[in-house]
Amino acid sequence: GEWKITTDKGEITCEHVVSATGNFARQTGRMVGLNIPVIPVEHQYIVTEPHDDIKARQAAGLPEMGVLRDSDGRWYMREEAGGLILGPYEAGAPACYVDGPSADSEYELFQEDLERLEPHIESAMHRVPAFGESGVKKVYNGAIAYTPDGNPIIGPAWDVPNFWLSEGHSFGITAAGGAGWQLAEWIVEGEPTIDMLGVDPRRYGSYATESYLKAKNEEAYENVFVIHYPDEERGAARPLRTAPCYDRLKDLGGVFGQKFGWERANWFAPEGTPQEDHWSFRRSNWFEHVGNEVRHTAAHAGLLDMSAFAKCRISGPGAEAFLDNLTANKLPKGIGRVSLSHALTERGGVHSEYTIQREAEDSFYIVSAGAGQ
Ligand SMILES: Cc1cc2nc3c(=O)[nH]c(=O)nc-3n(C[C@H](O)[C@H](O)[C@H](O)COP(=O)(O)OP(=O)(O)OC[C@H]3O[C@@H](n4cnc5c(N)ncnc54)[C@H](O)[C@@H]3O)c2cc1C
Repeated sequence: GEWKITTDKGEITCEHVVSATGNFARQTGRMVGLNIPVIPVEHQYIVTEPHDDIKARQAAGLPEMGVLRDSDGRWYMREEAGGLILGPYEAGAPACYVDGPSADSEYELFQEDLERLEPHIESAMHRVPAFGESGVKKVYNGAIAYTPDGNPIIGPAWDVPNFWLSEGHSFGITAAGGAGWQLAEWIVEGEPTIDMLGVDPRRYGSYATESYLKAKNEEAYENVFVIHYPDEERGAARPLRTAPCYDRLKDLGGVFGQKFGWERANWFAPEGTPQEDHWSFRRSNWFEHVGNEVRHTAAHAGLLDMSAFAKCRISGPGAEAFLDNLTANKLPKGIGRVSLSHALTERGGVHSEYTIQREAEDSFYIVSAGAGQ
């Protein structure tokens, strides 16, 4: 099939469409029936008047100073026209254009919020005294596109063939080259050469409602410059989707993470252990308890809540041949046996992972990642 795009400069017929519409992503999505999970958040930065020391550096022919990031203060600073720019990622920055921007809103600037900037200004003055010595030239407050995890959305749209997304860019100037390169490969070659799982549009689903997006995108913004740990789980808009046994698992010490909107018990805190994650770059506080759980399950038995996983049944005379073609490992031979197998990409990368149980000669029960729903 082909697309027919109607523009103010006439009609264009094409095979593929790439949607790269910044803060207008939700409106664009609606045109083709997609709920694109992009809601912008207000972002401010301050530009100072020139500072004598920076002008002296320039006069001496010294190169522009590097960008400085202060994670504790949650801001970046860089040289700008003989002065400085301070860009903080403030707590409490509100989502904006929740229903989409109006047609004439491009380049719109909002009223600045100095109260929100204050702690960051103080922190910046402490770290870089020259910043405090310069007068403020202008404060900018504009809409910056955000997604719930702060990563852009790059790749094929779900359910709409030959419709591609490059949306939700909050560091779009930085990311533009790589995004265009990988998306072009994906469209032309069928898959990108680098792993794009972290930005794949299909990581979101119908669970990403407007109120979820608002809470999550504000949270993503606020967390841009904080120190990130492996296995970090963020708290906004939770719990969202819970299994009927959620409360019971919680009472048993469950410490949860969120996968595809579902609450999933990552580990169980035994009595006397705080029921919370302590993130670390080394071994986090779950390490010992997960080890005990694994050893116990291997030696005895365990009961797992699989609600957050996708399941499907493939049955009929062609079931075995179909699955054999789809997955790389051998299918389980005996009835009741289970195997773990992967669907591979043409280049040999991993598309998806399946736990496959043979229920009958021609029937298989398949469990896969929550996003497979
Ligand atoms: C205050 C502020 C500071 C920032 N600082 C930085 C920074 O330092 N570094 C950085 O990397 N990023 C920064 N950004 C973010 C950066 O500006 C964006 O990530 C980037 O512009 C996104 O590029 P884009 O092409 O995805 O979207 P956009 O630049 O928004 O472009 C989308 C275009 O699509 C057009 N469009 C929308 N709908 C339609 C339609 N239906 N038909 C035709 N055209 C349409 C729009 O008019 C627009 O021109 C900042 C943003 C703000 C607000």
